[in-house]
Amino acid sequence: MKAVQYRTVGAAPEVVEVPVPEPGPGQVLLKVTAAGVCHSDIAVMEWPAEALPFPLPLTLGHEGAGTVAALGEGVTAFSAGDAVAVYGPWGCGACAKCAEGKENYCLRAPELGIRPPGLGEPGALAEYLLIDDARHLVPLGGLDPVRAVPLTDAGLTPYHAIKRSLPKLVPGSTAVVIGAGGLGHIAVQLLRALSPVRVIALDLSEAKLALAREVGAHETVLSDAAAAAKARELTGGLGAQLVLDFVGAASTVTTAGAVAAVEADVTIVGLGGGALPVGFGTSAYEVSVSSPYWGSRGELAEVLDLARAGALSVHVETYGIDDAPLAYERLHAGKINGRAVILPNG
Ligand code: NAD
Ligand code: ZN
Ligand code: ZN
Repeated sequence: MKAVQYRTVGAAPEVVEVPVPEPGPGQVLLKVTAAGVCHSDIAVMEWPAEALPFPLPLTLGHEGAGTVAALGEGVTAFSAGDAVAVYGPWGCGACAKCAEGKENYCLRAPELGIRPPGLGEPGALAEYLLIDDARHLVPLGGLDPVRAVPLTDAGLTPYHAIKRSLPKLVPGSTAVVIGAGGLGHIAVQLLRALSPVRVIALDLSEAKLALAREVGAHETVLSDAAAAAKARELTGGLGAQLVLDFVGAASTVTTAGAVAAVEADVTIVGLGGGALPVGFGTSAYEVSVSSPYWGSRGELAEVLDLARAGALSVHVETYGIDDAPLAYERLHAGKINGRAVILPNG
């Protein structure tokens, strides 16, 4: 089968032939219908060899949806042909966090060498994907797999980041979304669907700001050194109760801190390497800064339910598997509007 692999540190991904995996006991083989392309892969492909926590080659893709092609011994919860989405942050399944469905925060994953598909295990950018345990599958329940597949990360990650801050998003409050890309354009919609908050989106180009407005941002501001002051002005000087930074660079976390209101949540989602100091005279009173990772299995089910209710419109650009390296190139250049989705069998 064809697979898109990161093979050499610093080099572009390549389309190669690899054997189709066979499901062992408890495992499930999926025929991949759609696989999303996330900016985290670009971050991983920029790490030096000594920072890579897994060996190469790596089949990329940590957003996957497909149909059940074969069941390993003992799997009874699914049948051949079922349409499913993949919960990506695999854990041990048994620790206290996993028992809560928070496998994204598995307490034993590092020690046991458990890694997500596409971020250590072979990922979804291939014709077939091996799922380590049937519990990682969520039925699509009639959703279009191409538009739903980004929800497994680009939807789930902002959903988790927003849900924890919902008590602060009362009428009259403001949320600032920095970076209206794959995650950000869904974050705007989640904010609008889940709360009465006013949404201000920041990005670098007019095309991204236009998408942010189209999906529900009330205001947009070009992301430059004056952005925090402009956004704060739009709040009557009070600042935002929630700032979601989907870039996470030194410049954007500075903007995030500068636009945060008293008692705000500043949530750094992007892997840009920036850090925000907190202290008297440095930040607004009682600001909480956090850096959440992905989301729980229960939250993925909630995001998919929200999509089924018609509250989310994911913008996608589709590519055949041979064009996956081009999709990464375009994502790197900031040219993807919404999410790039690869159709490995399309
Ligand atoms: P993307 O490329 O689709 O979107 C990023 C957006 O940010 C683009 O629209 C880009 O134009 C914009 N941007 C870049 N620099 C900016 C700046 N200085 N100011 C304002 N906007 C700027 O990427 P994505 O796939 O949506 O991922 C977003 C980030 O989130 C990445 O860093 C990714 O690694 C990270 N991520 C984190 C998690 C997590 O669990 N914490 C999960 C998924 C992705
Ligand atoms: Zn991702
Ligand atoms: Zn665990």
